Amino acid sequence: MLILLVVVMLVVLVFLASEYEETRDQAALEQDAETVANDIRSNLLHNVQTLQSLHSVAPSVDAWSAPAAEFLAQRREIVRLEWRDNARRLIAHRDSLYIPDLMSYFDRSQALPEMKIACDNALRQSGPAYSSSYFWPLSSGRGIEMIEMCLPVASEGKPAGFLVATYSLPGMLAELVNKEMLRGRGLGFSDADGTRLAMLSTLSGSRRNVTARAVLDLPGYTLMLQLQSLRQVRGLFPNVLTAMVGALSLALLSVLYLLGRDIRRRQRAELEVGRALAFRKAMEDSLVTGLRARDMDGRITYVNPAFCEMVGLSVEQLVGTGLPAPWWPPELVDEYQHRQQVRLAGKTMPREGHESVFTRPDGTRFPVLIIEAPLIDAQGQQTGFMGAIIDLTEQRRVEELNRASRERLQATARLTTVGEMASLLSHELNQPLAAIASYASGTLNLLEQPTPSDPLHAELAQAMRRIAEQAERAGRVIKSVADFVRRRERVREAVTPQSLVDAIQPLLSLLLNKHGIRLQIHIEPGCPPVLCDRTMVEQVLLNLARNGVQAMPQGDPPAHSGMRLLRIEVGQLRLHSGETSGGRARKIWVSFAITDHGQGLSPEVAEKLFTPFFTTRPEGMGLGLSLCRSVIEQHGGALTHEPACPRGTVFRFTLPGADPSTIIRS
Ligand code: ADP
Repeated sequence: MLILLVVVMLVVLVFLASEYEETRDQAALEQDAETVANDIRSNLLHNVQTLQSLHSVAPSVDAWSAPAAEFLAQRREIVRLEWRDNARRLIAHRDSLYIPDLMSYFDRSQALPEMKIACDNALRQSGPAYSSSYFWPLSSGRGIEMIEMCLPVASEGKPAGFLVATYSLPGMLAELVNKEMLRGRGLGFSDADGTRLAMLSTLSGSRRNVTARAVLDLPGYTLMLQLQSLRQVRGLFPNVLTAMVGALSLALLSVLYLLGRDIRRRQRAELEVGRALAFRKAMEDSLVTGLRARDMDGRITYVNPAFCEMVGLSVEQLVGTGLPAPWWPPELVDEYQHRQQVRLAGKTMPREGHESVFTRPDGTRFPVLIIEAPLIDAQGQQTGFMGAIIDLTEQRRVEELNRASRERLQATARLTTVGEMASLLSHELNQPLAAIASYASGTLNLLEQPTPSDPLHAELAQAMRRIAEQAERAGRVIKSVADFVRRRERVREAVTPQSLVDAIQPLLSLLLNKHGIRLQIHIEPGCPPVLCDRTMVEQVLLNLARNGVQAMPQGDPPAHSGMRLLRIEVGQLRLHSGETSGGRARKIWVSFAITDHGQGLSPEVAEKLFTPFFTTRPEGMGLGLSLCRSVIEQHGGALTHEPACPRGTVFRFTLPGADPSTIIRS
């Protein structure tokens, strides 16, 4: 559109310029026409004056002829000069020598009416007057347009008739006008109504002529003077100014064209850059690796969405922040600052990156791997650092899981070894235990011979009986453990809590006495028997009681505090335990609680309490509690612990109460 506008402007400019030139030519021509008219007018006036002087120097007919002839010889435009009296009668006359055949075709009388009108007018105006033009044929076949000029003359103050000069119009055109004016032009007379009367021209009558008109108003008659000139042929650009403006417009056009091409190229380039940018942004946004750019002072200049998500801050919160960074753990700020300085000073960065710890706004920490590289701009100058940050949380979790499962595998392997050891021991110990039992019963038999009733004798017999009992019990324990390890089916029987406690009491008493600890046993009256593998549950009770004793070493708690006390409580629990086909059945549970007043359990110990091989004691195996829990859970019960009041720990386990009529195989 701009180009179109410029073209239109250019065309309008050329048109206006040539219009202007034409009107200027026209104006000049009109000016010249006016000048020509003035020339004719002044020459006519001059003729009038000469004629007046002619009359004054030659007032008689005789004297008149010579100066009249001279006058005519000098003025070719006048074809005849007459002197007439006041009644218009001819007194004297003289014809021009230049047109000898003037009166040969027509007689002078033909022109008298025009002459008379002119003289009447002259008389009225008391000055020269002109007649209208009339055609005068010549004998040669041509003819000329002529006008009469009548000048009243006086001699000695009286009217002395008229001087009549007959003008030829072509002669006027040829003689009264400056020749210079007419070079290359045409000049003519026409009537007021446009009829051409005379023409003096070097022009061919073409339409490319320019015409200017001027009015030649003579007293008594008005003629139109036509000046014609050939229209000047001009180039497209008629003058320097227009040519310059045209050249400028053309230059503008070419600049516009170049500009348009440049804009199109730019648009294409912009589109391509935009596409490339959008592609990069999509890539950066979809990346799970955090990206971060810093300037040389450590201020953040760019972060991608993955990094924002990692540290839990928005782009606005991050960009522009300097050191210390908001994600540094407060306690590590000094260390990180130092590390940063070392890195900046060295300017070399390890390609494999380094590990670090970041914080989220909620204070949680997470491990990351940072790979940093110098940021080099297009001029090859380092403007900062670019870092890729990988969140290692998931990797660490997987590693931790691997480690835990490896530990579990090791523990299982050790447990297997322990199981094998237990089987071996039970096998190996059975024989010596059987030997101890048979020696004890042999000795008892000997002691029971009917011999004097020595008190020492009786005590020895009692001791022997105890040895035999414990040897037998040891045998049972070994068998039960072996069965447990091999997961054999075992017979469960209904056992009263009292008998369970009684079974461990002799061994427990020995231990308690050694440590100066009192034992308190409370069994709820009417407590039902429990359904269990008797030997194993006795071992559980013994283990828990022994742990309680070991938690109260000498002096802790002190003897005078009254807290050196181990308490075994047994009572009944009533719980709903699921649906049966007939409706809600009530199952009886019996709870055993072993309470000590030792140092209690720290949270770390409590957490790992049932882990196999966990122990805090140098001589401990760390298998007691895990074994106890397995035994109780095999019975369908649960083993729990809680702090005791005012100090110490309560270990509590449950066992199913026995329906006295049945014995269940499991
Ligand atoms: P061990 O007796 O061989 O150490 P256990 O499995 O019986 O193995 O016990 C594991 C650990 O639990 C003990 O080392 C001890 O630190 C802790 N523990 C067990 N019972 C008690 C208790 N009653 N009071 C305080 N600590 C206890």
